[in-house]
Amino acid sequence: MDKISIENLEVYAYHGVYPEENKLGQKFFLSLQLFIDTNRAVGQDDLMQSVNYGEVCFFLKDWMEKNTFCLIETVADRLAQAVLLQYPLVQRIILEVKKPNAPVSLPLESISVTVERQWHRVYVGVGSNMGNREGFIRSALLLLEQQRNCKLVRVSNLFATAPYGYTEQPEFLNGCIEVHTLQNPQQFLTTLHNIEQQLGRERTMHWGPRTIDLDILLYDDAVLDMENLTVPHIDMQNRLFVLKPLAEIAGFVRHPLLGKTIAQLCEIAEKRQN
Ligand code: ATP
Ligand code: MG
Ligand code: MG
Repeated sequence: MDKISIENLEVYAYHGVYPEENKLGQKFFLSLQLFIDTNRAVGQDDLMQSVNYGEVCFFLKDWMEKNTFCLIETVADRLAQAVLLQYPLVQRIILEVKKPNAPVSLPLESISVTVERQWHRVYVGVGSNMGNREGFIRSALLLLEQQRNCKLVRVSNLFATAPYGYTEQPEFLNGCIEVHTLQNPQQFLTTLHNIEQQLGRERTMHWGPRTIDLDILLYDDAVLDMENLTVPHIDMQNRLFVLKPLAEIAGFVRHPLLGKTIAQLCEIAEKRQN
């Protein structure tokens, strides 16, 4: 991917832990690398198809002056996200926030924090088997769209499916969605849990009836084994109610552990069922 770099943009702002820093302000230097695909801009030699670095500089200055945070860690995190949200062509950003006059009573050149942030492609399985099932699913999608740092990119058709695991319960409605997010896997899982809670999800029985279930199926090519999160979803390759809708929107995507595309996994699961 191509890169636009800005080095040591000087701005005067009010970030810091000490009240004097918030009142008097001080100098900061910003250095950043913006990763974009410049193919279209170069092909047409058109600034509108690229990112206007002059405009970015003013955006950075404005943002630094308008906001006040204690930590430059927070400044770097929020500013990196703000740039990604403001400039959709930017896929990834590396941002360094330097504080040359940091209140440390020892000689030093500067203190800095560097963060790297990017859009992540996530596939989420959605399911409901209580009440107005489609209504719950549509509400979940609306709530997800309202998250500042999430974009709902694609939605599959919804399929009616027989219950899985515990079979003495109403039929499910299942689908899959593609979301682009700036959140890391844990943050994104928390977002999904919050939406489940807002829609009245109660966890009384594993695999029991639910108003809404939102599961992370794939998060980029990540392979994660954490206490509360396994990615790719541990059982997705065995679930036709996941693979069928997922194949509609991500048939070409390869499962990072099984090495097969979703379309292939779907075909295998279908054959197994017949
Ligand atoms: P299943 O995950 O087999 O479809 P479920 O969706 O009914 O079952 P939940 O009650 O929704 O299970 O979630 C149980 C726990 O699973 C959650 O608290 C969550 O921390 C954990 N979990 C692990 N991996 C994932 C994942 N990829 N997506 C969502 N939750 C996950
Ligand atoms: Mg589930
Ligand atoms: Mg779940």
